[in-house]
Amino acid sequence: MKFGVIGAGQMGGGIAQVAAQSGFDVVVHDQKQEFLDRGRGVIEGSLGKLHEKGKLTDPPEAVLGRMQFTTSLQDFADCDLVVEAIVENEAIKKELFRQLGEIVKPEGILASNTSSIPITALATASGRPTQFIGMHFMNPVPLMQLVEVIRGYQTSDDTARFVNETAEKMGKTPLSCNDYPGFVSNRILMPMLNEAIQCVMEGVAEPEAIDGIMKMGMNHPMGPLTLADFIGLDTCLAIMEVLHQGLGDDKYRPSPLLRKMVQAGLLGRKSGEGFYKYN
Ligand code: NAD
Repeated sequence: MKFGVIGAGQMGGGIAQVAAQSGFDVVVHDQKQEFLDRGRGVIEGSLGKLHEKGKLTDPPEAVLGRMQFTTSLQDFADCDLVVEAIVENEAIKKELFRQLGEIVKPEGILASNTSSIPITALATASGRPTQFIGMHFMNPVPLMQLVEVIRGYQTSDDTARFVNETAEKMGKTPLSCNDYPGFVSNRILMPMLNEAIQCVMEGVAEPEAIDGIMKMGMNHPMGPLTLADFIGLDTCLAIMEVLHQGLGDDKYRPSPLLRKMVQAGLLGRKSGEGFYKYN
């Protein structure tokens, strides 16, 4: 099995690492060598930690030995499955899938890790809609159990079966849904985070109290504002826009405070400040 990953960032690096840990030959692409080097460094660090804790059967070098890092898409020609994890931008993803549809061998399957872009639209751009699917891994990939498998309008049963089996071989639990805005995970999660932000805006409670109430009261591992900061407020806003536009219901309206914080560059953990301050 040859497993391709496009994008060596937070998600792509994690997907590639878990695929290599599962014994697959993995090829990873990014736009520049420096992005590949950074991604490889993160994977090396993660493998080292897993090895120290005794959670890795193979030595880290053996796992890395199954990985190839490249800036050329031509290296994906003989992949059985290619998972895309690049920037969350529909036009850029469509152009990438148009190219992959021409490069990858005809029986190869293409998948997207998108959080919110319609799978069916990307499938059409790839020119192979029956062999296209959403494979939505959770962050951080090496630790999270779920893969949300999203069937596009024309995804075949064979494609769905292959991708479910592959996710299981990666030690994950695949759960299926159909292609509607936000799928299941973000359709349910994001309105909750948005409502927590609305509570801050209306002065219902301080952020610490909102998070504490949801953590202790609902037994959530993390409060909604802490989680929004972790995901990135820009990402939260983009997903709320997709739900609002795609479902056409004002119950999905992004909180004005969320919009204002994104305009101010307060994006959460990655910018150093969101609802909380980070070093
Ligand atoms: P990231 O910014 O960490 O990584 C994206 C990588 O893709 C970067 O290394 C970038 O250089 C590369 N890239 C961008 N355009 C490219 C192109 N045209 N060709 C090749 N490489 C390109 O982003 P991320 O957080 O890893 O997110 C990637 C995808 O995963 C997005 O679609 C996002 O919605 C989805 N996702 C993210 C999370 C999360 O919690 N971060 C969770 C689930 C799904």
